[in-house]
Amino acid sequence: MVSAADRLKSVQTDIREAEIEYGRREGAVTLIAVSKTFQADDIRPVLDAGQRVFGENRVQEAMGKWPGLRSEYEGIELHLIGPLQSNKAKEAVATFDVIHTVDRPKIAKALKAEMTKQGRDLPCFIQINTGEEPQKAGIAPMDVDAFVRECREVTGLNIIGLMCIPPVEEAPGEHFALLEKIAKRNGLSQLSMGMSSDYHTAVGFGATHVRVGSAIFGLRG
Ligand SMILES: *Cc1c(COP(=O)(O)O)cnc(C)c1O
Repeated sequence: MVSAADRLKSVQTDIREAEIEYGRREGAVTLIAVSKTFQADDIRPVLDAGQRVFGENRVQEAMGKWPGLRSEYEGIELHLIGPLQSNKAKEAVATFDVIHTVDRPKIAKALKAEMTKQGRDLPCFIQINTGEEPQKAGIAPMDVDAFVRECREVTGLNIIGLMCIPPVEEAPGEHFALLEKIAKRNGLSQLSMGMSSDYHTAVGFGATHVRVGSAIFGLRG
């Protein structure tokens, strides 16, 4: 049987090959292993294989498993990749190291207030709704420049980059290209884009963080 550790290794190899193929620097792309829905027992083999950067999409779920895993393993970096309610900002700031889903002024302000209170300055990505899908979270492309400016200059958040989830039924490349273009004109260097089905493509469009779940942990139940 192929284990999660084996699948991790093949994803790592594939990312390295994509870096070479697209002329990216070795190690330019950070692999975020998305462990949502999986239990600590499923995550430990991946930690034992050396992976330290993980993503979760729910604050409550992450609070249930990561404090324990952090006490067992050094150097864990936990990324919030799912939607955030402002009444969960306190727990999110205490539980996570990086936030990928800043998508409205209210959340930006709630996060900043908590970071100040807790003495933590978490790097943040702004989520962009590149496909302008009504059901999807994220800032509309035309509103991004103003929102980036507001987050930086008014709210005082440490914005390091942009994140997107392309529409499932569309080729992801044009969405990755759009994210890269918007980031560039805003002086942002980090791009969180690419999942199990399209991370190789994302590396070609400049991804600095790929969020890979099922290709490592298997299908979610
Ligand atoms: C679940 C999830 C992923 C990982 O998806 P896979 O297709 O399993 O790799 C990536 N990004 C976000 C925002 C997610 O919610």
